[in-house]
Amino acid sequence: MASTDLHSLHGQTALVTGSSSGIGEAIAVELARAGADIIVNYRGSADSAKGTVDSVEALGRRAVAVQADVSVEADVIAMFDQAEAALGPLDIVVSNAGLQRDSAIADMSLDDWNTVISTNLTGGFLVGREAIRRFRKKGLREDVSRSLGKLLFDNSVHQRIPWAFRVNYAASKGGLRLLMESLAQEVAHEKIRVNAVAPGAIATAINQSEREKPGGLDAMLKLIPYGRIGEPADIGRVAAFLVSDAADYITGQTLFTDGGMTLYPEFRGNG
Ligand code: NAD
Repeated sequence: MASTDLHSLHGQTALVTGSSSGIGEAIAVELARAGADIIVNYRGSADSAKGTVDSVEALGRRAVAVQADVSVEADVIAMFDQAEAALGPLDIVVSNAGLQRDSAIADMSLDDWNTVISTNLTGGFLVGREAIRRFRKKGLREDVSRSLGKLLFDNSVHQRIPWAFRVNYAASKGGLRLLMESLAQEVAHEKIRVNAVAPGAIATAINQSEREKPGGLDAMLKLIPYGRIGEPADIGRVAAFLVSDAADYITGQTLFTDGGMTLYPEFRGNG
């Protein structure tokens, strides 16, 4: 039977895409803290993954870095092959890699559109499809988890909140929401759970220039009733919960982790 500590991920292996930095790195570290061995996916140079690998190993877990561009089908399949060759079958897959290419609609190039959709949405499809295929091959391992496999997407509050000047990003995240929910519906009877975490504003490279421009941080804080920008570990801890047996009855859900951003704080006392 699985561990009596329902939060434990001991004996399980997780792949986290885009985990050489930011939220993906924090998810990798929090999954390792809960006991999982980790495949650290990175896109650029192998050096970029070293920090995450070191942090996971410092927690006494195994970590292997694997290069892949999640928008390229052959890369994604090769990444799963390398992951399984290195650490064995995967119990947990987190599709986290994502990016922004912001601009006003009239100036948005087709390349800006395609880059964001192919990474955030098509990447989610390719990683999700491969995860389901591999979970099925692995089969249920009741000694480590009640679930045959856990697939988690890193979505965004912008799966719900429209975002001017970033229609490519909002469209990718809105699409990812129904990809996640439809997939969860398709595979729940196989004991595969599919969920999402939806961060609000978390301090990472993706929004560094926005936070650092004059007045940028204050403008962001006005949107966050809880009064602080999120830390990557805020998302890492939620991810570790959602892929654990403590969340065994949760599938097809998005856990908004946003300090209240989706409470539309500008309506407090107005409207
Ligand atoms: P980040 O830039 O630090 O991390 C993104 C990671 O994805 C990087 O490691 C990057 O190398 C990787 N990546 C990008 N394209 C890739 C590709 N084609 N193949 C493989 N890897 C690729 O920023 P972050 O904030 O940590 O972003 C992680 C996820 O969190 C994204 O999906 C983002 O949309 C989501 N998110 C972030 C915030 C926030 O406020 N930071 C809010 C909501 C959602």
